[in-house]
Amino acid sequence: MVERVRKDDEDMVDAAEMVGTDDDRHEVREARGAVDRIPTAVGAAGDHLLLVEQYRGFDADLMRMYYARLFPYQEMYKWLSYGHDRKHPQSDMSFFARREFSFTLDNDIYIRYQSFKNCNDMEAAIRDKCPFKIDIGAVFNFDPSKRQLYHRAGSEKTFAPVERELVFDVDISDYDDVRVCCKGADVCNRCWPLMTVVIRVLDTALREDFGFMHILWVYSGRRGVHCWVCDPRARRLGNDQRSAIAEYFRVYKGSENNAVKVALPGPSLHPSLSRAYEQVLERFFIELILPGQELLADKESWEKVLCMIPDNDVRNQLRIRWSSRRQPNGDVDVNVQRWKDLEKCVKASKVKTHGMRRCLDEIIFVYTYPRLDFEVSKSMNHLLKAPFCVHPKTGRVCVPIDPQACEDFDPTTVPTVSQLLNELNTACAEETAGKTVESVKDFERTSMREAVEIFRSTFLDGLYKSCRAELDAAHIAKVQASSELLKLAW
Ligand SMILES: [Zn+2]
Repeated sequence: MVERVRKDDEDMVDAAEMVGTDDDRHEVREARGAVDRIPTAVGAAGDHLLLVEQYRGFDADLMRMYYARLFPYQEMYKWLSYGHDRKHPQSDMSFFARREFSFTLDNDIYIRYQSFKNCNDMEAAIRDKCPFKIDIGAVFNFDPSKRQLYHRAGSEKTFAPVERELVFDVDISDYDDVRVCCKGADVCNRCWPLMTVVIRVLDTALREDFGFMHILWVYSGRRGVHCWVCDPRARRLGNDQRSAIAEYFRVYKGSENNAVKVALPGPSLHPSLSRAYEQVLERFFIELILPGQELLADKESWEKVLCMIPDNDVRNQLRIRWSSRRQPNGDVDVNVQRWKDLEKCVKASKVKTHGMRRCLDEIIFVYTYPRLDFEVSKSMNHLLKAPFCVHPKTGRVCVPIDPQACEDFDPTTVPTVSQLLNELNTACAEETAGKTVESVKDFERTSMREAVEIFRSTFLDGLYKSCRAELDAAHIAKVQASSELLKLAW
């Protein structure tokens, strides 16, 4: 059953929820028609140069080719079926079919509550509809596409989500008061370290404080990162528990007009916060954020920092020192030098209140601690864009990020759909020219190979193994229980 929800419909509750994950709906419209194709020589076949079409931009034709040749359907299915993908005695073959998918189509139409029997069914629907965006929703108690049949049949069962990954969404646009290099949806290598901090801090806390193991990190294609926690325990959390976990990460409470943007209560930092501070925040702040975002470069920027120091004398002392024309040591970045001045003055202050003792930490937390979009994490029913989608505005693929190597991730070099199709064209042309013939999947002849490899090695392989182990254990327990029953019957 296909449900169409238009942007301006009254019945927007679910659609608004879906769109709330990412505001690239208008970008779908803006990006359309930006394609330009020119033939380019890529290799020699005999005496003739091979001419291969060069793709640029983003449009429905490119997406059609991407879905036909590059989208990793099998890996996506292997993930979302959680081991229920072949004839294991404990397999629940309805599991994948109860998962909601939503498509955003080229013509601004949203199709919610779609479900697919298996991998082939999913592939056929995606290739047929060629969505500009695919969102993944919850697993429901029955097939979402048939929910209205149940209602009509007067079923007592209420259609409700029963499982959903615990998800986190962080957008760099929520750091605009910290960034000087970019605004809004733009990112560059100077501000991206803020997202590296998010991955480092959250990944460690989710593993060490909550004991989760199966965590997928994905670049959102433009301005942020998504996190999918896929352990069975995480997938079965209720909304209240999801809210509690999200709130565990709420440290930043600021707005542009609010001087104190974090409050770190108690005589010492919570162990999770002190670990974040020692392992990640302080280093990133001093080495990258302070100089990269020029936090103390001029009066306007240093006033934002000084207002977080609860001692008027210290603030004035620093203002006088920094306003004098004396330039700091040649080689040392002016922001780093001024931060050293600030630390020295705060430590020497006669004011010994809690606020004064904490203000250095608080400044670093304000500028670096993850700022989550809490609403996305709190509800089982919230949709989130699928990995390996293509962002319509940038044309970039939403590739997985290896959390162990997140400091090396560069959002400006993530492959675009046109780049991948050009790579594939070149590989095919070279084969035609008799250079090489490889019997591999199309995506393996392009930069998608690395993205899919990260998906497998950092996430999917471990998850699949543990899902099968869980099914095996359930099967053994069932066999043992039935043999005990048999013994009793004798
Ligand atoms: Zn930037």
